[in-house]
Amino acid sequence: MKGSRVVKDAERFAELSERLAAVRSRIESAADASGRGGDLPTLIVVTKFHPAEDIRRLAALGVRDVGENRDQEASAKSAELAELGLHWHFVGQLQTKKAKSVARYAHAVHSVDRLQLVDSLARAVATEQDASGRTPLDCFIQVSLDDDAGAHRGGASPSEVPVLAERLADAEGLVLAGVMAVAPLGAGPEESFERLAAISARLAAEHPSATAISAGMSQDLEAAIRFGATHLRIGSDILGSRPAVG
Ligand SMILES: *Cc1c(COP(=O)(O)O)cnc(C)c1O
Repeated sequence: MKGSRVVKDAERFAELSERLAAVRSRIESAADASGRGGDLPTLIVVTKFHPAEDIRRLAALGVRDVGENRDQEASAKSAELAELGLHWHFVGQLQTKKAKSVARYAHAVHSVDRLQLVDSLARAVATEQDASGRTPLDCFIQVSLDDDAGAHRGGASPSEVPVLAERLADAEGLVLAGVMAVAPLGAGPEESFERLAAISARLAAEHPSATAISAGMSQDLEAAIRFGATHLRIGSDILGSRPAVG
């Protein structure tokens, strides 16, 4: 049934095109409303659980930055799509033993939350630089904005940021880009992203080039833009709900 596959493919392309355009227009409106004008954040499309074919379609629609949260899936997709020259952002919790694999394909890791992980990434990137001459790895310190330890979804506490930042700044092959956070469930996203902006300002006072703020998902991108997000991580509003994994 080759014909119906072609039709399905065209339908999916049209759907992604429409959803992507809607998100881009939300981003522009939010940037306008917050007086940022043409200073638009980088849109990272989080493609976890969606097939590599969707990433190909997104690349054809001008997407350059994609995000994944599991090493196995990211590693396979980045290998399959190597010729597209995309920037791969790792956004999920990361075990130190996966650092080596991530260093092979990732341009950025948004979930650096402990010293051990900084050291593992530094070693892995150094090895990769010797082997393949890879570029330095952009690192975001993931901050937990959740006061409720029971609901902890990863991330360092705000008080741990200075020590992590020092270690990242000293690590060859790693670039201290800035901070990342996921707005905790329950709290309003404005309040959370305002706290993140304050943490970012304190970091940038010590490390002037570490100004990036990775914040904002499908539900809260407007709030994130209002509080200075430089990188948005958007999944479901572009790709639709995530297919169930078997
Ligand atoms: C899945 C995921 C996103 C995207 O979330 P959506 O609500 O689907 O836009 C962003 N950041 C992280 C860390 C994620 O795991």
